[in-house]
Amino acid sequence: MAKVELRNLTKTYPNGLIAVKNVNITIEDKEFMVLVGPSGCGKTTTLRMVAGLEEISSGEIYIDGKLVNDVHPKDRDIAMVFQNYALYPHMTVYKNMAFGLMLRKVSKQEIDKRVREAAEILGLTEYLNAKPRVLSGGQRQRVAVGRAIVRNPKVFLFDEPLSNLDAKMRVQMRAEISKLHHQLKATIIYVTHDQIEAMTMGDRIVVMNNGTVQQIGTPLQLYRKPANKFVAGFIGSPPMNMVEGIIIKKEDEIYFTDTKNIEIIVPKILQGQLNNFINQKIVLGIRPEDFIVNQNQIPQKGISISAIVDVVEPMGSEMNLYLNAETTTLTVKLKLINEPPIGKPFIVNLDIEKVHFFDPETEQSIV
Ligand code: ATP
Repeated sequence: MAKVELRNLTKTYPNGLIAVKNVNITIEDKEFMVLVGPSGCGKTTTLRMVAGLEEISSGEIYIDGKLVNDVHPKDRDIAMVFQNYALYPHMTVYKNMAFGLMLRKVSKQEIDKRVREAAEILGLTEYLNAKPRVLSGGQRQRVAVGRAIVRNPKVFLFDEPLSNLDAKMRVQMRAEISKLHHQLKATIIYVTHDQIEAMTMGDRIVVMNNGTVQQIGTPLQLYRKPANKFVAGFIGSPPMNMVEGIIIKKEDEIYFTDTKNIEIIVPKILQGQLNNFINQKIVLGIRPEDFIVNQNQIPQKGISISAIVDVVEPMGSEMNLYLNAETTTLTVKLKLINEPPIGKPFIVNLDIEKVHFFDPETEQSIV
């Protein structure tokens, strides 16, 4: 297996569009690295440059320390799994998996061994003689993965492999690909626009936007310490609430206020830094899950927000509340209660240690 390094990688398409801008990422040996970001952020272009399917405009790609910019895709020892599976419809599952090896003139015996091993790992043994058309979406995706496994490549590249599957199958395949990663001890670069896939599968995640890397970290690092507003809003579901306001000083304490009905005390450990923001604009970030039920519905100074409940979405054991708090709307995730007060005033408390602040100009996190 292998380490992959992207150094100052840039891609300008012939029409002048700069799809990838000066990207630096190191994917360690055996690491599962996820590239995540909204549509058009440049993640597929990045992956295709690693595969050798897209010309590099500037920068370098190293695989195991070897510069591969000018190495032909087939000589990069990489296998790619595509979103649309790209199976040959007229070939059996066996042949689909074996075909690449046959082209490489691998012996029949070796091909047979590898195909049967991969089929076993992927639960495809009984389908080896079937044609792709009789398989379900999930099974077809497994064949596409099997075709990559038999090649025993240094690096696996996955480009949105689950986006054509239904919700249930996606969850199942997520677990299967994670399991596969542990079994194969493979280096994997996995592209998705789905932050839940990124959070559940990645050892580390690269969040991209507009062709640039916003932050690289473990799922928990990104969740707990987002570097900027973009990452904070992209990682986590429902997304983090962003409330615009200012920092004020009152009775020797520092507060955030939206200048209307929200007044939140700044946690002690952040007061030093936010001292520099007094009377200046700031953005408060609160995750929906960082609210707490206010049991007796009496506002508590510095930690409560009063609002009207617009919509309630019961989710089983939890519910999402959409609150109208005059200057802003808030999404709040709480344990399900029997009679959610739709259309009525409701007081929620904040887990004050978990709030985030962002500079409204630079959008960088203030930590
Ligand atoms: P998606 O999830 O929608 O595929 P992505 O993050 O993978 O998005 P890319 O496919 O890498 O994004 O595309 C990045 C940008 O480059 C987009 O604005 C896209 O329109 C543009 N782009 C992609 N391929 C080409 C091309 N061949 N010529 C010109 N522009 C392109």
